[in-house]
Amino acid sequence: MSSKAIYPGTFDPITLGHINILEKASRLFDQVILAVASYTGKQNYLTLQERVALCAEATSHISNVEVRSFEGLAVDFARSLECGVMIRGLRAVSDFEYELSLALTNTKLNPQVETLFLVPSLRYMYLSSSMIRQLADLGADLKDFVPPCVAKALAKKA
Ligand code: ADP
Repeated sequence: MSSKAIYPGTFDPITLGHINILEKASRLFDQVILAVASYTGKQNYLTLQERVALCAEATSHISNVEVRSFEGLAVDFARSLECGVMIRGLRAVSDFEYELSLALTNTKLNPQVETLFLVPSLRYMYLSSSMIRQLADLGADLKDFVPPCVAKALAKKA
């Protein structure tokens, strides 16, 4: 049976840190679904369509990654795909508390979906979408932080 994992998030926008996690996950599983959440719980910077299109372009070099958007709960989407593993990235201690409570909540919502934490390579440890949004607003050069397609899209937006 082939192994499958889902990597859910808002990806607003996708960064080199997310891609690093995806590259690692793609070596561990036969298929990885990058699941872009419609509901973000915060004000969106990019629309769902923009986020999905950029995720697809930025991950086109990883053959076993598929980009999908979803409404509602990530655990429900995982089960609808018959997927029992949810990947999350852990950058630093600051991520841990939030990610732990999210993982425990998701286990309560659906015990059949396990959360698997992956740690990025050191050089991506500090990257966050919120930092990128601020840098984009301030007109910074984003080439060291995001894939070229994202840098281009954000430059047009600024
Ligand atoms: P959220 O779902 O909290 O909005 P994001 O869409 O920003 O989160 O990110 C999805 C997942 O990727 C989260 O588990 C987050 O911790 C992780 N992540 C974000 N940036 C990085 C990074 N630079 N390195 C590793 N993991 C990351």
